[in-house]
Parts: sequence; structure tokens; C-alpha cells
Amino acid sequence: MSGPGTAPLLELQDLTRHYRLPRQSLWQPAPLVKALDGVSLQLQAGRNLGIVGESGSGKSTLARLVMALEAPTSGRVLMDGTDLQSLSVAALRRARAGFQMVFQDPYGSLDPRRTVERIVAEPLEALVDRCTRAEQRERAAEALEAVGLRSNDLAKYPHEFSGGQRQRIAIARALITRPRLIVADEPVSALDVSVQAQVLNLMLDLQDRHGVSYLFISHDLAVVGLVCDEVAVMQHGRVVEQGDPQQLFRQAEHPYTQALLAAIPGQRATVQNRPTIAHSLP
Ligand code: ADP
Ligand code: MG
Repeated sequence: MSGPGTAPLLELQDLTRHYRLPRQSLWQPAPLVKALDGVSLQLQAGRNLGIVGESGSGKSTLARLVMALEAPTSGRVLMDGTDLQSLSVAALRRARAGFQMVFQDPYGSLDPRRTVERIVAEPLEALVDRCTRAEQRERAAEALEAVGLRSNDLAKYPHEFSGGQRQRIAIARALITRPRLIVADEPVSALDVSVQAQVLNLMLDLQDRHGVSYLFISHDLAVVGLVCDEVAVMQHGRVVEQGDPQQLFRQAEHPYTQALLAAIPGQRATVQNRPTIAHSLP
């Protein structure tokens, strides 16, 4: 694997993912959905790339491919210059420590029957270098504290927490392997607006402290503008516009981006880069 600095942290090369739907009649071919249709993007270490687009534009498919949960139909996903599909099962397992995911739904994504400790420590189980139970607990406590929760929350269950706190737990789980990339698929979309700001601040704060990069997916251009150095706008599986979010706010060229901007309530469209929202914990 080539070292950092020589290749982008993440590079997508002409990525496509097609799904064949069930045939609807005997005489017609099975319909093909081009969920991703030739996407090329780069993310440099330490920076954040936003993916924005309406529902069905292919954002979650992109996330699953970056996480190697699914293989592309064609094209490549390169992590530090290495094609994930070229790795053996063992090598992919080893590489997995380097990239983690946070999902949209903080209710559905945390197993209600497991303690917070088991949920947060779970990614450690998948690693090649197993740690002891005691080390797992220590690292889970460390990750919880990093997201503003307490180590005595380890023994609790997800139902004892609010939506914002659950998303903190999900972020702690993603952090525990000390990844360089976190793929966050609509991480605040299910949260109240006031709680959204707290979670976004936390993510930026963790970036400053741990040097992680985000591939930040959202249907909300304003939210992406708060977190990302660069934004790619997706429509029908393709990138239709790309650039600095503040620039896009000022002069979006593509009509689809203009439509996304028009959907932002007035004041939020004028957000500054890296805002200083009050940093209170729930
Ligand atoms: P987004 O996350 O932007 O809402 P998705 O990536 O979930 O978009 O979906 C993009 C398109 O691909 C949609 O038309 C969706 O119905 C289709 N799609 C996604 N996953 C599958 C699948 N497993 N089988 C068939 N179609 C799929
Ligand atoms: Mg989605």
C-alpha cells in the first residue's frame, strides 16, 4: 500500500453501480437502475468532501461502495491508492480499521439488546489484531469520552439515550478503530435542528483532535456547507456540479444545485465556513 501523501486518501474512478430489478413482464427486459453512473471524485487526507443530492440520487450506494460493503459494477474505489476490490479477505479486514461509517438512523443502527460498551467496541471484533476484553473496555470508554459521554454510560442500553446522544454513540463506535476516513450518511438528518448543530460541532472538533476526514453525505446543502471543504452535487447517479460550498452558495451554475439551494430556508443559506455554534452538550 502506498503511503499517505503520495495518493489521495480516497479516490473514486469512474464508479458505476447498476441494479437489475425483477422483470415485470415476460416480453420486456428486466429494468436496470443506474444508481451510480460514472462518478469520479477525490478526497485528500484531513479534508472533508460533501455529497449532496435529493433522495434516490445514489448517495447511499456511493457510501456502500466506499465502505466495500458492495462491489462496483465497474470503476474503482482507491483508499490510499489501493483498490479495495483487489485486496484479499484478510487484507480487506486489516484495511477496515482505517475507514468507518455512521448511519442516518440513530435508532435503527444501534442494536437495542446490546450495551453501549458492546456497541461501541464492536468494530474492534472485526480487526485482525484482537484486543483483550480489558483493552476493549478502556478504548470504548475513551471513545465515549471523546464524544462527550461518560464512561459509566458503557453499561447502559440505547433506549436510555436521546437521538443526539445515540448519534454520539454511533460516532464513538466509528472512532474506536482510529480511522482516517469516516463515511457519514445523513448523520444528522433524523435529529432536531438544535441537536444537529451540536453533532456537527462535535464532528468538526473530533477532526481537529484526531485528524479524521469525512465523506459527508446529506440531502441538505446548508448542512454540508457547514462541514465540508468541497461539495459534489449528485443527480441520477452522476456528479452534476462540484466545488467550494461557499462558492456554490453564491453562484450555483447547475439548475439542479439552484433548486437545492432554493430549498434552504433563508438565513441558513448565508452560513459562514466553520461556524461557531454554542458548544453545549445535551
Ligand atoms: P440516496 O441515498 O441518494 O437516496 P440510493 O443510493 O439509496 O440513493 O439509491 C439510488 C437509486 O438506486 C434509487 O433509485 C434506488 O431505488 C436504487 N437502489 C439502491 N439500492 C438498490 C438495490 N439494492 N436494488 C435495487 N435498486 C437499488
Ligand atoms: Mg440514502
